[in-house]
Amino acid sequence: MKEKIGRCTRCGSDNLLKNGHTSNGKQQYFCKACGARRILEHEKDYNESRKGEIIRAYFERASLRGIERIFHVSRNTVSGWLKKNDREVAYNRRNSYQSKR
Ligand SMILES: [Zn+2]
Repeated sequence: MKEKIGRCTRCGSDNLLKNGHTSNGKQQYFCKACGARRILEHEKDYNESRKGEIIRAYFERASLRGIERIFHVSRNTVSGWLKKNDREVAYNRRNSYQSKR
């Protein structure tokens, strides 16, 4: 079984080795390409612009199921982003409302 680890958050290489666990039990990796040692969170597979693209696609027309198919990102990950995004939108709206008064 081929294990999918992810990509280095520093150089984007997928040439990674498992490198033990941190004290709180998270898997840590060593990147053979750039030598970085770090914890790769699932969400960090997506950079900010990719994330923005996926969120925009959701607001345009796509269903979470469609996004899952197109971008190969889990529905749970996207709905997590959306929850965060909603809070930011609400916060920005409140601010712009206040600045108009
Ligand atoms: Zn790297």
